[in-house]
Amino acid sequence: MKQQTGLELRSLVLLAMRKALKDGQISRRQYRKALKVRFPETVPDILGTSLKVEKSLKKGFLTSIVYLAPSRESIAYGGADVCPLASLGCSRACLATKGRLRMTLGSNAKAWKTLLWLYYPEAFKTLLRREIYNLRNRAIHKGLMPAVRLNGASDIVWETKFPQIFSWFPDVVFYDYSKISARVLSSSLPSNYSLTFSRSETNEPEALKVLKAGGNVAIVFTDLEKAMRDGWNGFEVINGDETDARPIDKTGVVVGLSPKGKAKDDSGFFVHN
Ligand code: SF4
Repeated sequence: MKQQTGLELRSLVLLAMRKALKDGQISRRQYRKALKVRFPETVPDILGTSLKVEKSLKKGFLTSIVYLAPSRESIAYGGADVCPLASLGCSRACLATKGRLRMTLGSNAKAWKTLLWLYYPEAFKTLLRREIYNLRNRAIHKGLMPAVRLNGASDIVWETKFPQIFSWFPDVVFYDYSKISARVLSSSLPSNYSLTFSRSETNEPEALKVLKAGGNVAIVFTDLEKAMRDGWNGFEVINGDETDARPIDKTGVVVGLSPKGKAKDDSGFFVHN
């Protein structure tokens, strides 16, 4: 089947957005802003990479990642909140505000991918499936394990929104961080999907509940080395900066992370230790 180009996809997304405008679901101002989002001219890529996931190579994983516009960022141009339980602190410090994604090109890529997901999900899914297939073949060729992070900067419940993706690729390792404890504690997650709970300044009781149930919790510490020496609330803290290969972490531990880039926090999202 012929793949649609980015420009063709843009026309279809804008068509759906015009309908949303007519139905009063988005405003004229949002629609005008959406017109400024640039789509790639050729067949676009949904999967991308990051310095963090590239670190997983040393553990034998060839990893790709999907970056959408985090939290409420896309609402200005007709999008939606893709992180229903984001806290003020986490959205400020969000991974997507640093590194390569701070560049304008990266922000634009997040924007068109988010609009595509929201207004033309069938095309998004088709592209994603094709790219994971290619990633899988590349990984096998190199003797590596293919891995995919679907929520690079979002908290979409993929196991209900797109459950087929996990069964189509039983030999691909899917993993994510999530602030939705029900997802992390669920006994019905696909067997090739693993989730690490992500602590924020508003969900510490849930973080403890996940740890007590044997799950893992990611926490940003201002002093990661000290946290690894002291532990957190009686739980071992491992170094989560060394690699992003979360599926091979031992269980029932805190995955300690350091603040990245220029992220500053006074909300309590970082644990000041
Ligand atoms: S929930 Fe995660 S992806 Fe969403 S804003 Fe917070 S840190 Fe970023």
